[in-house]
Amino acid sequence: MTLTRHPTAESNCRVLFRPREWALFTQPRAVVGYVVTLVAVDVLLAVVGLCTTVLRAEELLTAAAVVASGAVCVEAMRRLGMPQGMVRDLLGTWWIPVVLLLPPLYALLTPIPLYLLMQYRIQRAVVFRRVFSAAVVALAGFSASTVFHALVPGPVVLLDGVAGAAGGSALISGEGIGAAVLCAVLFTVCNTVLIAGALRLSVPEEPRRTTVWDSESLLLDAVEVCVGLIVSVLCALSLLLLLVVLPPVLLLQRSLLFQQLQTAARTDPKTGLLNAVAWERVAKTELARALRTGCPLAVLIVDIDHFKKVNDTHGHLIGDQVLLGVATALNHQLRQYDVVGRFGGEEFVVLLPGADMAEACRVAERLRTRVGRTALPVNDTTVTVTVSIGVALLRVHGRDLLELMAAADLALYRAKDSGRDRVCLPVAKAVGIPVRSANDPPAEARGS
Ligand code: GH3
Ligand code: MG
Ligand code: MG
Repeated sequence: MTLTRHPTAESNCRVLFRPREWALFTQPRAVVGYVVTLVAVDVLLAVVGLCTTVLRAEELLTAAAVVASGAVCVEAMRRLGMPQGMVRDLLGTWWIPVVLLLPPLYALLTPIPLYLLMQYRIQRAVVFRRVFSAAVVALAGFSASTVFHALVPGPVVLLDGVAGAAGGSALISGEGIGAAVLCAVLFTVCNTVLIAGALRLSVPEEPRRTTVWDSESLLLDAVEVCVGLIVSVLCALSLLLLLVVLPPVLLLQRSLLFQQLQTAARTDPKTGLLNAVAWERVAKTELARALRTGCPLAVLIVDIDHFKKVNDTHGHLIGDQVLLGVATALNHQLRQYDVVGRFGGEEFVVLLPGADMAEACRVAERLRTRVGRTALPVNDTTVTVTVSIGVALLRVHGRDLLELMAAADLALYRAKDSGRDRVCLPVAKAVGIPVRSANDPPAEARGS
């Protein structure tokens, strides 16, 4: 069965009028509370801002110019294509001038057109995620803008029509630059903290450093802040300079997206693990190395037991969360050089370089126990699943990947046949080397 992430317009309409079926409400309660609170605060601030801020023509012109530049970037992204999941873009480049050059109200409003454009021109993402991302950018921008205008008070003036942006004079003053750097960093930190909060609530077991705090993300944040500041200063001098800064920003964004597309091509979007093709490529390399060096190596196939029942009872969206939970549990139990991937459906594959029979069965047993103990939070309740695991050893059960996979699959069938929730080896098949050794672990006994 193929699950589509992009429902048809007709089903979208039907779901729209049934809030209980919104994807948001399949999330854990804490996530729902977090998202709803942030969006509500954002809307409230925007309403108060609209009632209390006088909209000036020069500020509107500045906002329109910056949003138009951002829109060009969004269009460029569309042409290149967007990877699934969490994507890093360089749109911060356009939020920072809004934060620094315009009153805080604009930081709340400008994300709306650009996120609408992304939703309808690039990718129909799950609506609550898109709204949440826009609200996070808006709140981070509002906070940074409020601090900047408190630090650098003074009239928000237009220098000379399109020759200078609103707020430009304050920015290019001596103390303005220092405050601008501070507030651009503040914007990025607020943005990251708010996103990290949502990730922490939705995948509590995922270590934060692997998501938004890793060195790659921090480097990109730094680049975004620097480019955003350059754009702000150029805008402050003349809005026409946006035409000069746009091509290099487009080029930077292009290379950033290209790198992410390459990663996405190797990644399973639901679990973040390697997809079957990428896993096979890595597995073949490891296998060739093991054959060359004479080191042991094992392959595990892990299959969730009665997964269809989870889908039938809780729905496919919850099923997807269970898949993610199992993938996370597997990932946390493995060493850095073990290779784990999603084979397809509810099956995972694990390659254990250097593992002999005893070690492979010990690891498989640990994975089985860990998954069985993981209670995955789903709405008001929790879902627990078990897994069956087939184990195959290089030189014992096969000499190439195909033979090893076939042997592990056979072992998996044995595990299923003998009651599930267990680890099995395939039926003994000698390939020149003794099949059983004295230190075989008890796992096999459960399946025989
Ligand atoms: P067994 O213990 O014998 O493995 O039973 P099972 O129900 O796990 O296996 P079966 O092959 O009967 O069903 C697998 C189910 O996995 C059916 C399919 O709908 C579901 N499935 C496959 N891919 C996905 C996915 O990406 N998301 C969700 N939610 N379900 C999926
Ligand atoms: Mg299966
Ligand atoms: Mg199954």
